[in-house]
Amino acid sequence: MNIEINMPCEVEKALNILNSNGFEAYIVGGCVRDAILGAVPSDWDITTSAKPDEIINCFKDYRTIETGLKHGTVTVVINHMHMEITTYRIDGKYSDNRRPDTVLYTDKISMDLKRRDFTVNALAYNCDGIVDLFGGINDIEKKTIKCVGDPDERFNEDGLRILRALRFASVLCFNIEENTSKRIHENKNLLNNISCERINSEFCKLVLGKNFNKIMLEYKDVIEVFIPSIKKLNKEDWKQKINSMAMVPNDLILKFTLLFYKIDDIENILTRLKNDNVTIKNVRLLTLNIDEEVLPTPINVKRWLNKIGYDNLNQLFNVKKAVVKSFDKSNETELENLEKAELLMNEAVKQRQCFSLKTLAINGKDLLEAGIAEGEQLGEILDEILDKVIEGKLENQKSVLMDYIKFYRK
Ligand code: ATP
Ligand code: MG
Repeated sequence: MNIEINMPCEVEKALNILNSNGFEAYIVGGCVRDAILGAVPSDWDITTSAKPDEIINCFKDYRTIETGLKHGTVTVVINHMHMEITTYRIDGKYSDNRRPDTVLYTDKISMDLKRRDFTVNALAYNCDGIVDLFGGINDIEKKTIKCVGDPDERFNEDGLRILRALRFASVLCFNIEENTSKRIHENKNLLNNISCERINSEFCKLVLGKNFNKIMLEYKDVIEVFIPSIKKLNKEDWKQKINSMAMVPNDLILKFTLLFYKIDDIENILTRLKNDNVTIKNVRLLTLNIDEEVLPTPINVKRWLNKIGYDNLNQLFNVKKAVVKSFDKSNETELENLEKAELLMNEAVKQRQCFSLKTLAINGKDLLEAGIAEGEQLGEILDEILDKVIEGKLENQKSVLMDYIKFYRK
């Protein structure tokens, strides 16, 4: 098959510079796979016969960053575009199931492609055409994730590949080849040797992939290795959970909230997996409130807006609706109430109604100037006034509120 890939001119330039200095060079890995699939690659990686010091020398007129010199990687910047250029590599022996003990350079592209994880990721391309030594093109056509070589060996070299297979199958909507799949189940405990950061980075991509539900259903045993608390869920519970995750917009916080719904120790799990603080904080807030009732009245909705803010409340509606739909047999009344409350929330925001201290017509300074209060009491008084405004008992106008606070004067 004749394959032609349109590369950005900066990438072509980098390949040309390496060639004109007497080195071989190809684009390689994810960018070749994505380009063949008709998607726009997020980054363009280059593999070359040039050694790191030779790469730096070839690009002496450009900015270079010594990104991973130990592994042979130099980042080259052309027209603000960053490209990782890596020397053809053979990985040495793997004694810890995660990283090669040594990295050897080679001048053969075939050796470099052989160390890569899956056939669809082991493709290289330049103006002379495609290098496909392991049937990667065929597997792209068949939408198949298959290890390069013997899956047992490959997973023992680097256990993370087990989770990478699931991630690619989820993101690309590919199937996992039968033998590779079988070995994934058998070797899943190798994931115990992998750092939480590497696991979580692949797991987040898996969860956000289009095909996450099919993969998570089929590989629950693998996910259990790094989230043991899901072991207690039976197949039906797990399925219901995953169904609920499919009902929210594709957002990690929403999906994690549903994944960990009714599971103990969420915060510890998220922290152990080294999620960032924003993710942990938001998932915790949503999980704490997911079973709380949000009555569909203007006053109640404004109290919620004051309590957790618009963005969080919006997310809370999303997860609550998903829970009702999948765990509460689509309870019609419950759903109608949630939709009504959501409308009220949007109305309150659109009409710039007052529901927070920020939008209250008076602030602490006004109270102090009027000689009303100091310190803690000040906050309490403002909260009381805000609640009266939310309840519609006071109009949110400075003169009205200033008049009212005289009531607090000792
Ligand atoms: P993405 O679009 O997510 O970046 P990618 O295929 O580029 O997908 P990367 O993690 O960026 O994935 O890795 C780049 C390439 O390096 C892969 O395509 C693969 O050839 C190789 N590779 C990466 N990680 C491994 C690994 N753990 N074992 C073997 N080869 C790997
Ligand atoms: Mg990549």
